[in-house]
Amino acid sequence: MDDLIKAIRKNEFQIYLQPKFDTRTEKIVGAEALIRKQIKNRMILPNEFIPLYEETGWITILDMYVLREVCKLQKKWKEANLPLFPISINESRHHLKNPNHVKELEEILRQEEANPRLIELEMTETTVVEDIEVAKKAAEAVKKIGFLVSMDDFGTGYSAFNVLKDIEIDILKIDKTFFDELEKNKRAQIIVESIVKMCKRLKTKTVAEGIETKEQVDFLKRIHCDIIQGYYFSKPLSIKEFEDKYLKIDPEIELQKE
Ligand code: C2E
Ligand code: MG
Ligand code: MG
Repeated sequence: MDDLIKAIRKNEFQIYLQPKFDTRTEKIVGAEALIRKQIKNRMILPNEFIPLYEETGWITILDMYVLREVCKLQKKWKEANLPLFPISINESRHHLKNPNHVKELEEILRQEEANPRLIELEMTETTVVEDIEVAKKAAEAVKKIGFLVSMDDFGTGYSAFNVLKDIEIDILKIDKTFFDELEKNKRAQIIVESIVKMCKRLKTKTVAEGIETKEQVDFLKRIHCDIIQGYYFSKPLSIKEFEDKYLKIDPEIELQKE
């Protein structure tokens, strides 16, 4: 655990932001925070270190670091009068059973003067299905303090349909696997279209993940999926790249803060 804390202090972890776009207008409406590890010039992707941290439970430290950094970023943008939109962070299953988790979240919100309506907590479908009762309680508790809750990787685990019946999820992220070879797979098209229709009636927003082609975008427009995330529009970007491309930071404000 000490190694992880040391690595955080040495700024070896960096947050990348992948923008999300309104399907209809193609304007940016949000972003997902994705962690990367940078040692010298080598960039390490999460699948190389997250499994180990998941095993040890240290992932919770990393997740809270990501949340705090995202809150700081939003504060900086707010002070610079820049447009604000929700940013999602990935929450490990380890948080769900932690009785102090809600307190921990509230503490970060208070310390960073953050608005929970601008933070979306992503729980994966697999995590939720693992223990529905625990997930339900955790989702209700974080919604109560104002966070948005989304279900990530929907369609990859065992069916989470029964979960949707019990938990008021704000956003449902339809997994990339549905969109692979979508043009050829009529059954996948029918399933995705039905999920989007169902979510509209449940007042749950839909995000299509891993969208890479124009054909996929056209299909999602046709079926009125709300939001698109994927390489077709943008890969995850460093904070600097993201700010340069999607926000204009006023240099005066940056100077005042030095
Ligand atoms: P995820 O939450 O489902 O995030 C989406 C992943 O898909 C990201 O991979 C993203 O870079 C990738 N992706 C986005 N658009 C496309 C596309 O068009 N095509 C393809 N092929 N891939 C696309 P990444 O950043 O490597 O993250 C992998 C997973 O690691 C994430 O999946 C998430 O489960 C986990 N993860 C990342 N950051 C964190 C974190 O801070 N905490 C926790 N607990 N998990 C994290
Ligand atoms: Mg995610
Ligand atoms: Mg996902």
